[in-house]
Amino acid sequence: MFPDRVLSGMRPTGALHLGHYHGVLKNWIRLQHEHPCLFFVADWHALTTHYEEPGSIEQNAWDMVIDWLAAGVDPSLATLFIQSRIPEHAELHLLLSMMTPLGWLERVPTYKDQQEKLTDRELSTYGFLGYPLLQSADILVYRATLVPVGEDQVPHIEFTREIARRFNHLYGREPGFEEKALAAVKKLGSRRAKLYTQLRTRYQEQGDQQALEAGHALVDEAQNLSLGDRERLFGYLEGGGKMILSEPEALLTQASKMPGLDGQKMSKSYNNAITLREDADSVTRKIRTMPTDPARVRRTDPGEPQKCPVWQFHLVYSDARTQEWVTAGCRSAGIGCLECKQPAIDAVLREQEPMRERAEAYLEDPTLVRNIIEDGCDRARKQDDHYFITGRLKEIIVLANGEKVPPADMEMAIALDPLFEQVLVLGEGRPYLTALVVLNADLWPGLAQECGLDPMAYASLEDPRLLGLLQRRIKAALKDFPGFAKIRRVTALLEPWTVDNGLMTPTLKVKRKQVLDQYGPQVRAMYDEGPAAA
Ligand code: SF4
Repeated sequence: MFPDRVLSGMRPTGALHLGHYHGVLKNWIRLQHEHPCLFFVADWHALTTHYEEPGSIEQNAWDMVIDWLAAGVDPSLATLFIQSRIPEHAELHLLLSMMTPLGWLERVPTYKDQQEKLTDRELSTYGFLGYPLLQSADILVYRATLVPVGEDQVPHIEFTREIARRFNHLYGREPGFEEKALAAVKKLGSRRAKLYTQLRTRYQEQGDQQALEAGHALVDEAQNLSLGDRERLFGYLEGGGKMILSEPEALLTQASKMPGLDGQKMSKSYNNAITLREDADSVTRKIRTMPTDPARVRRTDPGEPQKCPVWQFHLVYSDARTQEWVTAGCRSAGIGCLECKQPAIDAVLREQEPMRERAEAYLEDPTLVRNIIEDGCDRARKQDDHYFITGRLKEIIVLANGEKVPPADMEMAIALDPLFEQVLVLGEGRPYLTALVVLNADLWPGLAQECGLDPMAYASLEDPRLLGLLQRRIKAALKDFPGFAKIRRVTALLEPWTVDNGLMTPTLKVKRKQVLDQYGPQVRAMYDEGPAAA
C-alpha cells in the first residue's frame, strides 16, 4: 500500500558478537540491497531495562555503529541513525499512549516473560510496560512496511498493527469524509474511478481479497494524488476512514544458528561469545579451549560430533567435505580435537579479517562515524513520505499549484514571507510549478479565526474559506512575480511537513538561503506596504 521500507533497531548493550552477525547483521546486509532500509540504535529501548546505569549507553551506541559498518552495513545504501536523535519517536510514543488500552500492553507475552527472567532488575516500571508501544512508534513514524523479527517478536508487530488500526479508526473519520473520498475517487480519472468503485463493491459486498489488493494497487499507481487523498482512498476502499498509519508486516528471520563456545546460544551474559572484532590470538585461544564431547577423554577415544559444541561451529562454517572429515575422524578417533578445531578457527578468522580492516578507519577517525550518523538522522527525517504525525500539530502546509514560470521568477519567489513561516517554490525543470507555503503554527489560530474556523480543529484546514484567504494572501504576497499571477487554486493539505517533490534537498537548502539573502528584504518590504488583500 505504501512503498516498501524496512525498519530494524538494535539495543546498544555492548560489543556485538558473532551471534549478532549471523542472526541479524547478515540479514541487514542482504536487505539493504533489496529495499530502502532504516537501521537504528535503540538507545531509548536500552533505558527501559538499564535505566539505573545509563552511563555506558552512549559509548555502546557508537561502538555498535562501528560494528555494523565493520560487518558490511553500508551507509550509502541504508539509513543509519540513533533513536534519541529523532525526538519524534518519543512524541509519537506519547501520543499513541493516550489511546492505548493498558490491557493490550499487559498482554504482550514478552512483558511478563522478561520480568521473570531479568530478576536482577526492578522492571515494574511505566517505561518497561510501554516498551512495545515505543517500538510501535519507531515503526509507524516512518510508515515502515517490513520489520525483520524473530518468532518471539511477532506479537509486537501484531500489537503495532492493532495500534495503527485503532488510531485510524479514531482519527481517520474526518468531517465530510464521504464527500472528500468521493472527490478523491474522481481524481483517479473516469476509467480508473469506475474500476475503483467496482473493486470497492466487490470487496465490501463479497469480501473479495483480490479485489482489495487490486484496489490498493490502483491507488498506488495513481499519479497526482495528495497523501491525504491516498489515505482516503485506501480507507474508503475498506469501508473505514482515512488510513493514516500503515500496518507493518513481520519479516520473519530465522534464528541464528551460531552457537556459543559452550554449545548454548551465544550471549555476552553467558560468557561464551566471540566478539565481531576480537583479536586473532584471543579467538584462537577461545576455540582451542572449547569443551568437546566428554567421551573423548584420550586422543584414542572415539567421539560423537552431535554431542560436541565444536560441531555446531562446523555446521555454520565448514563445507560438506570438511564436515564429512570431522564426522568420520571423530567417530573413528582418526583425528584429534585440536586438529578438528583448526578449520573452524581458520574460518572464523577469515570471516573477521575484513571486519577488522573496515573498522580500522572508523576507529582512527571517529568523526567519520559521527558524520554517518548525522547524515543518517537527516535522511531518516526526510524519508519521502516520512510521517511525523506530530507534525500535524506544528505545521500546516499549503500547496499552491501554478503555471510554469521562468527560473529567475521562481528563484525570486523562494523567499521568506513574513505572513507565513516560509514560502518555497519548487518545480524548476518541471512542467508545472509548485509553491509550498508553510504556516507558522503561531499564526494558525489567527488565520482560522479570520475565517470563522475553530483554531483547534485542524481538520477544517480544507475549508474553502481558509483556502480562499490563503490564495488571496499568496497572490498578494507574490503579485510582482509574473508566474504567480496564474495561481488559480490553493490546496490545503492536512499532512505535516514532508520532503515531497524533493523539497529541502541539500541543494535547495543552499539555494534557498542564497535567494533569501538576495530577495528576502524585497518581500518583507512588500508586506510593510500593506499588500495583504484578504
Ligand atoms: S573431534 Fe571434533 S567433533 Fe569430535 S569431539 Fe573432538 S572437537 Fe568435537
